[in-house]
Amino acid sequence: MNKYPCRCHFIPDVVFKEMKKEGIDVAQPSQTGLDKSMRTRRQGLMTFARMMPDVGNNERLVFDSQNTSSLRLNQVRKEGDNPSVDLDVNAVYDNGGIVRDYFKTVLGWDSIDNNSMDLVSNVHYLMKYNNAFWDGEQMIFGDGDGTNFKHFARALDVTAHELTHGVVQYTANLEYKNQSGALNEHFADVFGTAIKQHFLKQNEMTANWLIGESCLSGRFAGKAIRSMKSPNDATVVMMPQPDNMKIIYKGTSDNGGVHINSGIPNHAFYLAAMGIGTQNAAVLWFEALKILKSTAKFKDLYKALTKVAKTLVIAKKIPASTQVTLDAAFKKVGII
Ligand SMILES: [Zn+2]
Repeated sequence: MNKYPCRCHFIPDVVFKEMKKEGIDVAQPSQTGLDKSMRTRRQGLMTFARMMPDVGNNERLVFDSQNTSSLRLNQVRKEGDNPSVDLDVNAVYDNGGIVRDYFKTVLGWDSIDNNSMDLVSNVHYLMKYNNAFWDGEQMIFGDGDGTNFKHFARALDVTAHELTHGVVQYTANLEYKNQSGALNEHFADVFGTAIKQHFLKQNEMTANWLIGESCLSGRFAGKAIRSMKSPNDATVVMMPQPDNMKIIYKGTSDNGGVHINSGIPNHAFYLAAMGIGTQNAAVLWFEALKILKSTAKFKDLYKALTKVAKTLVIAKKIPASTQVTLDAAFKKVGII
């Protein structure tokens, strides 16, 4: 039982707190209240799921919340349907398909749960809601207020990030606090980025390594939520993250810095990808995810990568130089 399931909002509470300090109150519904009711519901569902695994049909199902808090309210598109007139509906349908295909063809993983789980998305959640999240069983997208945030439903990296939280739930099930929580966020960024690069036919050299850059507007326009290349560069990201263990955040905000300290392994992934290629690194990271424990720390990620690298190198799936690259990357960020 994971006592700390993922509260996987794309924009973390710490960002809203920082904005409020600077006089920008984006009037979010309380994430804490929202999360508490969801957590209770999800824990019940997950216990139920263990007793009776949900066999899906590998279908994409898109619902319109019609600016209310209701989920699965009005089904507006299902697998095989013609496009809707609503661009957000079509975007989450298409992006869900891109994510599902990547996990299947590149990583050999069948949907979220490796058991053909349906991909359920809800768009137009609440009024001008500034976020998107995975609630343990489905995706939920706000429209954004249009002033600070926009178009969560249309960004491939948002959908890929959030659906990967689902995959993490069905693999390592990393506890969403402290270093294991930062690893949960890290994996969501790793596959968010790898899927975006794969779809755009980019590689480690041509990609911008930014996350969520298309969701920011107003005074944040031109910046991203995070950068795996330059986590700590305030000219690039709206909220800098540590990129080295020397400056790891040790406070209790953000569940012990899950969206803050993810910058450290994120930068290690970037460095590894620069050595062996993003897609090789993604395959390696996915195999490591499958053997990590739910309480894993950053050092455990390094150990797991080292272990699976041996097998993948022998199978000629990744370059022989992988271990040397990993050692250099994890030393550079201070994890080893
Ligand atoms: Zn996340």
